[in-house]
Amino acid sequence: MRKFQNYVQGQWLDGEGVETPLYNAISGDQIGEASSEGLDYAEILAYGRKTGGAKLRLMTFQERGLMIKALALHLLTKKKEYYAMSAWTGATKIDSWIDIEGGIGNLFANASLRRQFPDLPYHVDGDAIALSKEGSFIGHHIMVPKQGVAVHLNAFNFPIWGMLEKIAVNLMAGVPCIVKPSEFTCYLTEIMVRDIIASKILPEGSLQLVCGLGRGIIDHVSSEDVVTFTGSASTGKILKSMPSILDGNVPFNLEADSLNATILGKHATPGTEEFDLFIKETTKEITIKAGQKCTAVRRIIVPGDLVEEVQKGISARLAKTVIGDPSQEGVRMGALATRTQVQRVRESVELLAGSQEMVYGDLDNFDITGGNKEKGAFFSPILFYNDDPYTKTDVHNVEAFGPVSTIMPYKNMEDAIELSRMGKGSLVSSIVTPNDQEAREYIVGAASMHGRILVLNKDCAKESTGHGSPMPLLTHGGPGRAGGGEEMGGKRGVMHYMQRTSIQGHPTTITEITQQFQVGAKQPEAVPHVFRQHFEELVVGHTVFTHKHTVTVADIVNFANVSGDNFYAHMDETSLDGTIFEQRVAHGYFLLSKAAGLFVDPAKGPVLLNYGVEEARFTKPVYPGATIGVRFTVKEKIDQEKKSEEDIAKGIVKFLVDMYDETGETVAIATILTMVKKIDQSM
Ligand code: NAP
Repeated sequence: MRKFQNYVQGQWLDGEGVETPLYNAISGDQIGEASSEGLDYAEILAYGRKTGGAKLRLMTFQERGLMIKALALHLLTKKKEYYAMSAWTGATKIDSWIDIEGGIGNLFANASLRRQFPDLPYHVDGDAIALSKEGSFIGHHIMVPKQGVAVHLNAFNFPIWGMLEKIAVNLMAGVPCIVKPSEFTCYLTEIMVRDIIASKILPEGSLQLVCGLGRGIIDHVSSEDVVTFTGSASTGKILKSMPSILDGNVPFNLEADSLNATILGKHATPGTEEFDLFIKETTKEITIKAGQKCTAVRRIIVPGDLVEEVQKGISARLAKTVIGDPSQEGVRMGALATRTQVQRVRESVELLAGSQEMVYGDLDNFDITGGNKEKGAFFSPILFYNDDPYTKTDVHNVEAFGPVSTIMPYKNMEDAIELSRMGKGSLVSSIVTPNDQEAREYIVGAASMHGRILVLNKDCAKESTGHGSPMPLLTHGGPGRAGGGEEMGGKRGVMHYMQRTSIQGHPTTITEITQQFQVGAKQPEAVPHVFRQHFEELVVGHTVFTHKHTVTVADIVNFANVSGDNFYAHMDETSLDGTIFEQRVAHGYFLLSKAAGLFVDPAKGPVLLNYGVEEARFTKPVYPGATIGVRFTVKEKIDQEKKSEEDIAKGIVKFLVDMYDETGETVAIATILTMVKKIDQSM
């Protein structure tokens, strides 16, 4: 019998004792077994912290991002193998695509986040904060990777996506992890982890895998660790209140059940494109992945007078959904992951049937194409109708984690909002309407109870990612019943694995720590001129002090002629009554342009191009006669990788342009972005 193993402390290990049998969801045949018994979790966690963590923490965000990108590219070359095994979980090709390529896509998205972080192993968060009158004492925030390990406890439904969406984030933060997939589908996670380990793309110790039940793993977490849990609210509640979590104040990110609701707007009447979209999208959300999606539509909230039309529309589409072995022609819905899931969903359906009417589907009598109906894990789509959702409230409390959903009526928008909120916190909701005021009203009223809200109409339908797809750079997670967690969310997700620490000191000290120039820090003169230095040679804080220029009326007139900007305050001395200006004022853009004329060293050199200006401010009016100069300071350096062999090796350099007048006061300030060539052209 094939054994699916654990990868811990640098080796592939079998568990001891009783193995959990693993089954093919379509044929019901046993495909192997797994066990995590006998594993020493205290040692496994310590190994992750020490071996993997130490290496990851030394890497910069840029290096970690490139590592994750390399991993994504590598896994794409192996995807055929994953599709073949994913079919054992009962998944159709589309279901597998979500799990496999959705998961790999998540790696790519997180890898690209490297551009939003500094070129350091730690993050500099927000802006400096003035703490003194003279400016010699300031505050800032840095975020360093926790020196612990992330323990990911995952649900059975997405064995690949569930792992990748989480590890992308902890690896980006510089924190190692231990993945514990659900025992039921761990075989798929295992083959991917084999490829990851064999590739040696990740530093040893940064990813470990526990394939069996993993009971006891939580007992060994301590204060620098992070636990993420995706699964049922009941298990989550037990784990979240374990002594090791409470004693160490260990962050516990809970992603649990969610009774997601979709709303049919009053303006989406039959005959509109939106009505058809609603029927199509809702049916898709019931049947895709056989309803085993944390974001699937469980509650369908529609205007009372449209219940019948909606019921007819969804039922007609469900009737066309062929259930069976996804490898057979025409099959649109596969099986649940295991017979255990069939039993669990059945129990929930029976419970729901006690308070509402089943209007489509049958627990026993349904046809399948291919597969083994007795041994496999097939389930019919079930549609309920609840005529009184305020008193028949099981629908707002019971999650049947399969192709099961309930239609219920609403009277007005207030009512629709109230019903959607009765799910007590969800991952996602959606409203389908051609009317943006209606969408706005729903969102403002319902948003506090939902992690994400999709507004679907004909204008976005073609490119919409749909109700059920969490996007890696948007928050995923929801309040209340959904767990109160946010497992992704771009930069915010990465920050879950880092400690924010405020730092206080002289601006020169804070410049050294943050590697970002802080106003008030020492500005040693750059010799030679910064435009004569390569990326590696430039030092944050080094400054060019330019010569001066006295502004004239001719400057203003010439600039107005060149730019065509004849705004009255520049051009008409007689128009200034009631304005803040005392004389004709120089254009702000003239000042920036003149600043470039002062700070640029024109001969060809390492500076390749200027590609933008950020945070430009004109802080004091400049009148003819004022004498201006520029302090031009290296503000921050960000390394860049070569896109191809032929590419020029370069980095991004941000310069602070501080333009001041004869009183020494700043009149304009901006950050310019340049690309600067490296001496070493090999990388
Ligand atoms: P589950 O039974 O609660 O299990 C979740 C994970 O926790 C599994 O890996 C499970 O391992 C593990 N686990 C349970 N007890 C443990 C313990 N004492 N120590 C360590 N690990 C332990 O949930 P499930 O049936 O796999 O998943 C279905 C549920 O997940 C549904 O309710 C669904 O709504 C929810 N879900 C939520 C999201 C979301 O993002 N919010 C996403 C997907 C699924 P074993 O399986 O090996 O026992």
